[in-house]
Amino acid sequence: MKKDGVKLFVDGKRLDGRELDELRPIKMEVGVLKRADGSAYLEWGENKIIAACYGPREVHPRHMEEADKAIVRVRYNMAPFSVPDRKRPGPDRRSHEISKVTKEALESVVLTHLYPKTVVDVFIEVLQANAGTRCAGITAAALAMADAGIPMRDLISSCAAGKIEGKVAVDMMGAEDNFGDADLPLAISPQKKEVTLLQMDGNFTRKEFEEAFNMAMKGCLDVYEIQKQALLKKYEV
Ligand code: UDP
Repeated sequence: MKKDGVKLFVDGKRLDGRELDELRPIKMEVGVLKRADGSAYLEWGENKIIAACYGPREVHPRHMEEADKAIVRVRYNMAPFSVPDRKRPGPDRRSHEISKVTKEALESVVLTHLYPKTVVDVFIEVLQANAGTRCAGITAAALAMADAGIPMRDLISSCAAGKIEGKVAVDMMGAEDNFGDADLPLAISPQKKEVTLLQMDGNFTRKEFEEAFNMAMKGCLDVYEIQKQALLKKYEV
């Protein structure tokens, strides 16, 4: 979107008062839905997201089943009331894309060979959106899967970095995403720091890219700590 003179820094701080390397406030809770096998609720800045996980369970339609492993299916959906201009209900190009990259980001850590001919279904419902919903959705989905007891090699943690008024910054919020210069969503399996999602929108120089990548990586590792706390909290007496 064109900038049209929108200022993204006031007195050297970002519009919501953050430093360049500061994440928005994040809250996570697991086990929030009774009928799901696993679930999570996540607030990340003004994003509010529910994730639900079902399975491993029988595959319908049957032709999708794989003889030697479980499949992972992901549906990312934005509620019509989640954004300022009502979103048309139902799937669109954007939600198909986010569902696909989210599935790929999560699937890599699932021990699919343990449950042949089954499916792990993951639903991500965005109730309120303010930029960074794919990273927030991936983070919530990984928690829901862990809460469901899906055998996984590692969690998946996600965070983006971007460029606003020529400066590299972590975790852009709505106005920064709309009027910023670039966006770099990242998801990793935090123990080995393996990248499971990397997308880019806009332009970075090589140096900026490296800076943004490192900032997003640090953001993912901070998110990982909050995920672990949310999972531990469920088992506290
Ligand atoms: N957005 C919107 N209406 C839409 C889709 C997106 O207002 O139909 C907003 C929403 O706040 C979203 C942001 O644009 O978080 C950025 O969307 P993008 O496609 O970059 O994905 P995200 O940053 O959420 O992963």
